[in-house]
Amino acid sequence: MSPRPAPTPSQPPTRPSERTVTDLAPYPSPEERERELDGLVARLEGAGHTASIHNYGESVAGRPLRAVRVASKRNEAAARTEPAKVLVCANTHGPEFIGNRVAHGLLEALIAGQPQVAALHERAELWVAPCLNPDGYARTHARGGQGQLRDLRPNERGVDLNRNWPLPPGSRRLPIPGAGSSRSGDATYRGPEPLSEPETAALDALMHEQGFWACVNLHSFMGTLFPARVEDPASFRVYRELCESFTDRQTVHRYRRVASRRFDTYTGEQEDHQHHNHRCWSVCVESFPLRASFRQHLRAPSLFWRFNPRDPEPWVRNEVPAVATFLGRAAERSRPEVRTLRTT
Ligand SMILES: [Zn+2]
Repeated sequence: MSPRPAPTPSQPPTRPSERTVTDLAPYPSPEERERELDGLVARLEGAGHTASIHNYGESVAGRPLRAVRVASKRNEAAARTEPAKVLVCANTHGPEFIGNRVAHGLLEALIAGQPQVAALHERAELWVAPCLNPDGYARTHARGGQGQLRDLRPNERGVDLNRNWPLPPGSRRLPIPGAGSSRSGDATYRGPEPLSEPETAALDALMHEQGFWACVNLHSFMGTLFPARVEDPASFRVYRELCESFTDRQTVHRYRRVASRRFDTYTGEQEDHQHHNHRCWSVCVESFPLRASFRQHLRAPSLFWRFNPRDPEPWVRNEVPAVATFLGRAAERSRPEVRTLRTT
């Protein structure tokens, strides 16, 4: 028997798993992300906050769906009225890791006493659900961010979780791009029926249980704000003001609000459901502007690097005070009035 040839120094043996972990740095692996969240809660407690992790369900593949609750200071002072509860969500789409960084960054900023986050904490109970689609996150990570949108974006059953929400009563969905597809295998497949997925059903149950007053849903990439679609002028005006309060706090990159009262269609997105079915002021934030993404890579080496900045930190700093300001301003208002929509 002849000895096997040893690998030559110019061709070191590499395992794909080692390579993919390096490829997505500085973004954490799923396990690192969960450990980081546990660490943030421990540090919040160490800094004198009342913080806990709330397991609100399980993903299709059995991964825990976790949210952090931080009690309001006002609650601890036994104020007569209950503080408003506000929610930050991220990563409902597998490859949008920057949203998760901003969500964790908000908790980090609370520990550091960042002024806008501290002001929010004075008046509201803060909930952060930093990874709504842990299976999509894990799949994206395992593939080193390679693949098409339809491979990385959905949950484990191929459903786009942000097209799986019920439409507001009396509303309709037009067959336009992005409105959600009825075909399994499409990037925006909306699933067999609204709330068919354990990830959306569990979050909806949490919304019913907690009655959130306001919510920010973190996505990428675009550099835009999409408030819930509303037809009544009063709510439309409130969203304009809330979005202005958001962009006023963005010191480096200010995002554009995309809203219309006339565009008569709904898509099964989370913020519309939250506004119309849960009376919650809600906005979708698409971090990382188009221009910045293309400046980073004219031709991105993977889908992942189209959606995420190489260095998340400047974007976390750009978004965190803005997210806190939006939620704080929304918590000062009364909850949205729900009106019967025009039926067509
Ligand atoms: Zn998204």
